[in-house]
This record gives sequence, C-alpha cells and structure tokens, in this order.
Amino acid sequence: MLLRRIAAALCATALAAVGVQATSAGPAAAAPRVLYYDAGQAQEFRSVVDQGAQIWNSRVTNVRLVPVPAGQTPNIRVYADNGWPRAITTSLGNGRWYMGREAVNDGYYQPRIAAHEFGHLLGLPDRRTGLCSDLMSGSSAPVSCTNAYPSTREATTVNTNFATAAAVAPQVYAWAG
Ligand SMILES: [Zn+2]
Repeated sequence: MLLRRIAAALCATALAAVGVQATSAGPAAAAPRVLYYDAGQAQEFRSVVDQGAQIWNSRVTNVRLVPVPAGQTPNIRVYADNGWPRAITTSLGNGRWYMGREAVNDGYYQPRIAAHEFGHLLGLPDRRTGLCSDLMSGSSAPVSCTNAYPSTREATTVNTNFATAAAVAPQVYAWAG
C-alpha cells in the first residue's frame, strides 16, 4: 500500500514535469515510458553516459531515460571495458551496453558513442550509411564526426517504437570489428 502511494506520488511528480502536455487542448498525450539506466559501473564515462541519455531526452517524447533511483531495478546497465562499444538488448528498452575504450582510443567522439549505444536500447539497429548526420551509422562515419544527435528519422522511429511498444528481438550490436 505504501509502495503504491509512493508510486502514485512519483507519477504525479512526473506528470507535473510534463505539465505543458497535460494542459494542451488536443487528446491527452500518453505519459512517456520511463527507462531507468544505471551508469554506476561506467567508470570514467559516467558523465558521458548521462550526456547520451540527455541527448535522447531532448529529441524524443515517448520515452525518457532517467538515472535509476536507489532501490529500483534498472532497465539498462552501462559498463566500461577495453573492447569495442557494444549493446546487448533483451527487449525494447531493456539490456546493457558497454562504453568500449577501443573506439574511445581510436578517437571516436564519446557523446556520439553513448547516444548511439542508447539508440540500440531504444530499438534502433546499426545502419552503416557512412553519414555523420545519422547517429546509427556508428563507426561507418568518419572518426572526426562529432554529431551525437539522432536524425529526425531516427528520433521518429524511436517515438513510434514506444508508442506501439514494438516487439524487438534480443540482439547484440557491435560498434566495429
Ligand atoms: Zn551500433
């Protein structure tokens, strides 16, 4: 009962935060799906992980990436190691990803790596278009690419994924190699 009351209070807080939508005249917008992420094991990359989450939050409306509160189970766990950046998804919005130092040491832009790997957790596959304007082009864009924001098409796909609760099969995505 207490938990339920706390949950209701949290919901009210979340709704207050998106008050603009709640007062709009059109059909009530559904509350965005909240995904908790845990950057506690991302070592020196914790702040860039937060940056990647904020980039998505600034571009999509149907899902929000939020640092996991104490006592909650995260949907997404972020780690760091010396391999390639990679994501291992279990379903839409759930899984883990690695901030791999192999790409960092090659000079790839760290916020772009973080936003790209979050993109996999949001249901986007790799699309190696070679274009810096595409976030999911990943390592196919030049190392010098510093765009860390999804294209309009990528953001629209994510909004659609969460509007329809798209089924996404478990998947492993690697930055390169
Ligand atoms: Zn990828």
